[in-house]
Amino acid sequence: GLSERLQTAFRNLRGKGKISEADLRSTMREVRLALLDADVNFAVVRKFVKQVEEQANGENVLEGLNPGQQIIKIVDEQLTEMMGGATTELTTAPKIPTIVMMAGLQGAGKTTTVGKLARKLKQEKQARPLLIAADVYRPAAIEQLQQVGAQIDVPVFAEGTDVDPVQIAIDGVKAAQANHNDYVFIDTAGRLQIDDSLMDELKKIKAAVHPTDTLLVVDAMTGQNAVQTAEGFNDALDITGVILTKLDGDTRGGAALSIKAVTGKPILYTGQGEKLADLDVFHPDRMASRILGMGDVLSLVEKTQQTIDEKKARQLNEKIKENSFDFDDFVDQLEQLQRMGSIKDLIGMIPGMANNPALKNVDMDPHELDKIKAIIYSMTNQERENPDLLNPSRRRRIARGSAQPIQTVNRLIKQFNEMKKMMNQVSNGNMGGMEQMMNA
Ligand code: GDP
Ligand code: MG
Repeated sequence: GLSERLQTAFRNLRGKGKISEADLRSTMREVRLALLDADVNFAVVRKFVKQVEEQANGENVLEGLNPGQQIIKIVDEQLTEMMGGATTELTTAPKIPTIVMMAGLQGAGKTTTVGKLARKLKQEKQARPLLIAADVYRPAAIEQLQQVGAQIDVPVFAEGTDVDPVQIAIDGVKAAQANHNDYVFIDTAGRLQIDDSLMDELKKIKAAVHPTDTLLVVDAMTGQNAVQTAEGFNDALDITGVILTKLDGDTRGGAALSIKAVTGKPILYTGQGEKLADLDVFHPDRMASRILGMGDVLSLVEKTQQTIDEKKARQLNEKIKENSFDFDDFVDQLEQLQRMGSIKDLIGMIPGMANNPALKNVDMDPHELDKIKAIIYSMTNQERENPDLLNPSRRRRIARGSAQPIQTVNRLIKQFNEMKKMMNQVSNGNMGGMEQMMNA
């Protein structure tokens, strides 16, 4: 994956007191190839590499202290910048309802995402959304939206398949006004490819209801095509933002990196699964850190906060800050992850875990998780709270008690220690995680 490739590229800078221009150039060549292989748009890659090199030269990093760390810091900043810098939120209309129009190709995830957004607003803002069924080409499309609405207890406005979608949108917004709905989501039709009749219809809907946001839903799995699709829709429809779906799948991440640079429009959310809870706010800085293999502690903490009770999440935050995260917390986290569903995605957010072979298959194999738990449960309370106690003889006892090889026990303890160190550094907002990566 991209993270592994980038980490390998940076490993070449590691351990060198001084970095030559040639070292920098060969590292940047690796970075460039890694980005291209991840399906990042060619022009975007060229601009990116140029900017990193310019900044590195401008700041004279090769002459300074820790040039390797500084270069990674520049790469992190430029990746964040490339994805839009700050997080972009849904705009709230000055007067209700806020109108959100969805657009996108067939199968991109429009209907599902309408449900995800409505659910999120309902949960977080006690919003009263209305969903408008404006895809009249497939009878099943209306039914699908009605099912989504029923799942989250949100009403759906539909007028069947015989009414013009533009009229449905207008009538739906009127209904929302009459019922004091604060948000409306217009679920539109898609096509397998961009064509004029689809774009005409979408333009008409847009002109008729003046959406607060026009969001394009694109499938991240389609790689470079996702970027082309975004460009096409933006040219025709002047979208306000993008939702990138199916990031849970085996995607190469290129779309997330290129869309803002190519269209000038930010990614607002990402879809992380088929369930209506699987929607994340897009944070360019966190995505950059994740791509650089630093994990994504902040997203993890946030996700935990949504799923478990707030008090526990606050305690976790405190513990990370105080560096007193212990094996009890670790097993607690694993169990919560297990309850949350896709462990594999979440593991990737934990620093040091993303490339961890022992944990890579956790999602597929629940036994793997049981082994980890067995090891932790074989520790005494004191050992769990104070992992420094775990000397070789204690480790041998734990291996026997959990029926696991000593190597597995050692590996888990090592991973735990690395994770704890990185969590602490990342949560303190310094570049510690990267320093650690460079010095490891
Ligand atoms: P539409 O044609 O654009 O309305 O797309 P749908 O909402 O009907 O979604 C098409 C398919 O993609 C469905 O099977 C969804 O469950 C699936 N889907 C949507 N979003 C995601 C996502 O973020 N992750 C995954 N894995 N599947 C998704
Ligand atoms: Mg649909």
